Amino acid sequence: MFYWDYSFILPSILVLIIIMGYFFALPRVPIKMNKTFHMLLINEGIVIVLDVLSSWVDNNYKEMPGFILILFNSAFFVFFLLRIFIIFTYTATLLHLDPEKNMVRTWLVRAPFIVSVSIVVLGTFGGFIFYIGDDGYARGPLHFIIYVCYYFYIFYSFSLLYRFRDRVLRVRERRSIFFYNFVLLIGTVFRIVMPEYMLFDTFSLMAIMIIFLSFENPEFFLENRVMSFNSNALRRYVAEKEGTGRFKLLAFVIRDYHEIREIYGSVQTDQGLSLIASFIHRNYPEVMLFYYKTGRFVLLGNVELDWEDIHDEIRHRFRQPWRANNAELYLEVGFALIDCSEGYKNADEIINTIGLMLEKADQLGSDFNILADDSALQDYEDRIYVKRALENAIDQDAVEIFLQPLIEANSGKLIGAEALARIRDSEGRIIPPGAFIPVAEKNGRINQLGEQVFEKVCRFICNNNIEEMGMKYINVNLSPIQFMRPDLGDRFATIVRRYGIKPDQIHLEITEEAIIDEQMMEKQVRLMQKNGFRFVLDDYGKGYSNLMRIKKTSFVTIKIDMEIVWDYCNSMDAVLPMMISAFKSLGLSITAEGIETEEMANKMRAIGCDYLQGMLFSAPVSVNSFLKKYRYGEDLNV
Ligand code: C2E
Ligand code: MG
Ligand code: MG
Repeated sequence: MFYWDYSFILPSILVLIIIMGYFFALPRVPIKMNKTFHMLLINEGIVIVLDVLSSWVDNNYKEMPGFILILFNSAFFVFFLLRIFIIFTYTATLLHLDPEKNMVRTWLVRAPFIVSVSIVVLGTFGGFIFYIGDDGYARGPLHFIIYVCYYFYIFYSFSLLYRFRDRVLRVRERRSIFFYNFVLLIGTVFRIVMPEYMLFDTFSLMAIMIIFLSFENPEFFLENRVMSFNSNALRRYVAEKEGTGRFKLLAFVIRDYHEIREIYGSVQTDQGLSLIASFIHRNYPEVMLFYYKTGRFVLLGNVELDWEDIHDEIRHRFRQPWRANNAELYLEVGFALIDCSEGYKNADEIINTIGLMLEKADQLGSDFNILADDSALQDYEDRIYVKRALENAIDQDAVEIFLQPLIEANSGKLIGAEALARIRDSEGRIIPPGAFIPVAEKNGRINQLGEQVFEKVCRFICNNNIEEMGMKYINVNLSPIQFMRPDLGDRFATIVRRYGIKPDQIHLEITEEAIIDEQMMEKQVRLMQKNGFRFVLDDYGKGYSNLMRIKKTSFVTIKIDMEIVWDYCNSMDAVLPMMISAFKSLGLSITAEGIETEEMANKMRAIGCDYLQGMLFSAPVSVNSFLKKYRYGEDLNV
């Protein structure tokens, strides 16, 4: 005979109400974990209410009809068992276990729950789990089944957590999964030792709090500024619908977002974003809206919707300003439509394609790109392929240098070489720098790549007597990104010292095309020049260099971009010769790039180019081929 004590259960109800209030007040992404948690909260409410009701009727068993006692207690046990089953399902969802994958195992795992519930229901007649005796409620002979069911799911959760721990990336989250199961375990001990205090509900509530704080706070999935879902939500949603999801995504990006933020300030820009979000919420309540950082929105919805119309309407709306706090925001957007109506196999692909296409939309303006035409996908695959090869090459110190000779125009003799970086894919095929340099510049790996190239060139100079080959220097290309590191000069100086070579044996090429921070660069150049390094301006004519700047930076050589060289060779005019004589009057020497024929060589020589580089002499070749060809001062037929 028990006399139930409610003192712990009543406050638990209040706490549960607060959690429910928070959870249900905010929008939730319809993904399995959230739906399961939703069920868990509802079930918890039912369990607690039934617990109170059944123990109240138990306490007053003398005045109660027997069937009421049996009904309430049985109902309580059914939902009590359902609780652990839902929590277990939740854990399985967190560990990304898919019940569809192995139906046999899924049913085996469900069996303890089904069996226990059946025993409860059958027990209504046989009194297996509990019975109502002369002294009221009493535990039946099979009462332990309840604990067997709980222990099965708790320990099975532990073992799954251990086996699939790598699927939960954050250690903190793994701890949480362990912890809420552990709390339940402790709860069962209290239920066994001192059942009359009804403490198990309190422990279960603690477990729910842990889940709420670690995984289910709706704000984890929300971008508060715009009251839409965030990128985390999008990623989860798309990942969960992998293989089965059929929807379309309309993404748009506010062009020049960073500039917009600078111009209007962050408060007003945020207000603008929130106006855009409400416009979409209001007009398209049937789509899910995600805010994907830096001015990028994604609408996800049913395939059947008229997406062309939605696109037109949103584009149309952006022709008018957004009014935020007395300010009018004029925003330009680029769009991309991604069609997943045929389903998709790889969620990462979709997410990355969104990013890529928005990048394109940002550059190009407001036109559709359709995933179905595969070009975006191909782009993505190419980029991944290059990225992988790049990471590999840098990590394994496998960036190669190829050398292309620089020829003295008048004598036709080898005077130096340009080092050009090459990497290889897993099959040993060469990937050209045009494909990987921009990627490396974007993810910052260019610093390591550049240093590897630089070091390999130093090693080459140190190991080979380049003077004997007639070479005075080797040119190394520098990316403007490398100049952003204040220690660039020191690092290079250290490497040069380590190999015991002279810094003026290296000419550093910088392109005029993409100078980011002019002041920073000039400062670095000056510093490095003091250390003995020499600088060459590469690809002259492609960018915006003016004479003043060229004069200021004191280059030793100007390399005329091959487009300009070709242009001049096709239709000679007076401009290039004039430029060249201006440079020469400043004391600079001139290299012509892209020389492919004798005729071109002659023309460039005639207008005063000092050095020539191009296929006529040699393509960039591996260090070994270069040595084979030039070590013994083989005559060059020019
Ligand atoms: P760049 O510095 O202007 O290098 C000259 C490019 O022109 C090389 O392309 C070379 O193969 C090509 N070329 C040379 N002669 C001829 C010719 O007669 N005809 C034609 N059509 N092309 C010729 P590559 O090796 O593909 O390199 C492309 C660019 O990648 C380089 O342009 C350079 O800006 C960059 N790059 C290469 N290696 C590195 C590096 O280690 N670091 C950095 N930051 N950039 C590099
Ligand atoms: Mg170059
Ligand atoms: Mg060049």
